[in-house]
Order: sequence, then structure tokens, then C-alpha cells
Amino acid sequence: MRPFDYQRATDAAGAVAAVAARPDARFLGGGTNLVDHLKLGLIEPGLLVDVTGLPLDGISERPDGGVTIGALARNSDTAAHPLLRERYPAVARALLAGASGQLRNAATTAGNLLQRTRCGYFQDVGTACNKRDPGSGCSAIGGLDRDMAILGASSRCVATHPSDMAVALAALDAVVHTHGPSGRRSIPVTDLHRLPGDEPQRDTVLEHGELITSVELPPLPFATASRYRKVRDRASYAFALVSVAAALDVAGGTVREVRVALGGVAHKPWRAYRLEEALRGRPADAERFAAAADAELSAAQPLPGNGFKVPLARNVIVRLLLDLTP
Ligand SMILES: Cc1cc2nc3c(=O)[nH]c(=O)nc-3n(C[C@H](O)[C@H](O)[C@H](O)COP(=O)(O)OP(=O)(O)OC[C@H]3O[C@@H](n4cnc5c(N)ncnc54)[C@H](O)[C@@H]3O)c2cc1C
Repeated sequence: MRPFDYQRATDAAGAVAAVAARPDARFLGGGTNLVDHLKLGLIEPGLLVDVTGLPLDGISERPDGGVTIGALARNSDTAAHPLLRERYPAVARALLAGASGQLRNAATTAGNLLQRTRCGYFQDVGTACNKRDPGSGCSAIGGLDRDMAILGASSRCVATHPSDMAVALAALDAVVHTHGPSGRRSIPVTDLHRLPGDEPQRDTVLEHGELITSVELPPLPFATASRYRKVRDRASYAFALVSVAAALDVAGGTVREVRVALGGVAHKPWRAYRLEEALRGRPADAERFAAAADAELSAAQPLPGNGFKVPLARNVIVRLLLDLTP
């Protein structure tokens, strides 16, 4: 491992300036993803700026009834917080579906959103990977592709995004607030992560040195019954093959509003806009739910080894929406 400098940030502006000044600098949150990457030789930063001492770990109610989650709130604290459990249970459940208790105690909101793909080729420096080494090729295409994307992939990269929480946040219209070298900005979670296109090395739209300071969940009354369901190879300690976050508002047997996002299927949390459009104003029944899921998944382009994800996603969507139907 290459030696690196370590700094403990005392204020957000200083942290941003320190990372922005050096192309080889990185923010350090709980370290549960970044330190693994150091050990695997995926990255060799010259400077780590530890941001965990910044006062960005609060979780609070907003005047509009929404909730703000600090970028440094630990995943365990967020999952256990009454505001999340009561108003946005899909977020709490998504967090509890991820990693382990010890990891959640260390992992932060921002680090969770910015964790990198678990694609085995990305994590193996002995293989070609356009995300790790742009231009080297994608070993997953024509290789072991069972866990890879079925939606929005490119000929350069078929990796999936691993965060469970990001899927729930994408479904519930969450917004990320940042402090960067060019100032402050707010980015909907649905726009934070990128599809791979020709630049799979870029996971997000963030610029170098841009610090996530908080995540805001807007008020959404029917999110109190939101849910998250994750299908994986083991009951715990495994990433999603397919996951679904959903919230449903039904009145008189008709869908008034709906929010759905999918995980494990794309390079970013996949907000199911087509599905939502197909359901608004329609009867809330299994037939419509299946038709809406098909509308979303008609864009799927599975690889030879992961065609099973299409019916799996369809079935999980229908089951979850039926469970949410009064
Ligand atoms: C064995 C294992 C199983 C796991 N299973 C799951 C799972 O099932 N589901 C799941 O969702 N996750 C899972 N994880 C991943 C885990 O959730 C992440 O490692 C964790 O959330 C990352 O948070 P962190 O604070 O430790 O990030 P770090 O490792 O500190 O950082 C991750 C990235 O975020 C950047 N960063 C950190 N903070 C900021 C900030 N404030 N602003 C800008 N950039 C920042 C860092 O520079 C780095 O690039 C698992 C991890 C392990 C090791």
C-alpha cells in the first residue's frame, strides 16, 4: 500500500479546500468501503481527509414535515431514528437490509451513497475493467455476468450500484446537499449517480472535492407505509440481486400516487418512472401492477447469465405493491 498523508478536518470549507487542492486526495467517512479499496490496491490516494469529526451527523425534522439526515449520521443511527422509522420506513428497512450491525455502526450516509460497485472484476486488479482502468475493457461482458445490470448498461460497463439506502432515497425523491469548490448545490438523488455510457469511471455527477453535507427527504404523507424488499443469495451480508423500494397511495381502489425504484439492476438506483406513469389513476390490482412492471422492464437488456433478473424484478414489484394495497 502506498503511504499517504492523513488530515482530520475541523470545518467543511477546510475539508473541501484540502481535497480540491490535490487530485490524489479523498474524503474519508467510516472507511468501510474506501479502506477496502486501499487494501485491494484499487486506489492509491496521497491524502485522506477524515471528515467524521465535522458536525454533520444530526437527523432532524424540517419545518415542512420532511427530514434532514446529516452526511455523517451513522447508518445504524439513521435506521433506528423514529423520524425515519415512522415517516420513511423504506429508508430504515433498506439500511437494515445492508451489510452488518458493525459495518452500519461505522458507515455514514454520504459514504453509503458513494460506495463503489461490488463487480468482482472491478475489485480484481488482475482483470480488465473500464471503471477502474478506463480503456482497458469490460471483463464482465462475456464473463461472469450473473450479478450485472439489465437496465441502462453500456458496451463499456455492466456493473450495478450496490447501495440499498440509495434505492429507497431515489424512490422517495430525496435531495443531496453538497459544499464544493464551486459553491453549494442541491442534487436529486435520482440525478446523483450516472449511467456508465462512455465514462464508467465516473459514478456520480460530483466534482473532485465536493463534500456531501446532508440528505433531505421531502414530506410525502403516503411514505409512512413505504417498504423495501431485497432479494439476495443469502439472508444477510449479501448485496441485492434485485431490490424494490415502493410507496403507494390508493383511494377507492384506484392508485392516486406511487413511487418505485429498483436496485441491483443498473449502474444507479433505477427510478421506475414508466411504471409509475402506467399506474397513476388505474385500479390497484395484480393485473395492473404486472402490466406496469412489464412497461418498465421492457427496456431491459439482460446478459446471457442474468436473464432471471427480469421476471425476478417483475415478481418483487408486484408482490410489494400488493402488500402496500389496502
Ligand atoms: C462485507 C460488507 C457487506 C456490505 N453489504 C452491504 C449491503 O448489503 N448493502 C449496502 O448498501 N452496503 C453494503 N456494504 C457497504 C457499506 O454500506 C459501505 O461500505 C458504507 O455505507 C460506506 O460508508 P463509509 O462511511 O464507510 O464510506 P467510506 O468508505 O468512508 O467512503 C466511501 C466513499 O465516499 C466518499 N465520501 C465519504 N464521505 C463523504 C462525504 N461526506 N462527501 C463526499 N464524499 C464522501 C469517500 O471518499 C469514498 O469515496 C457492505 C460493506 C461490506 C464491507
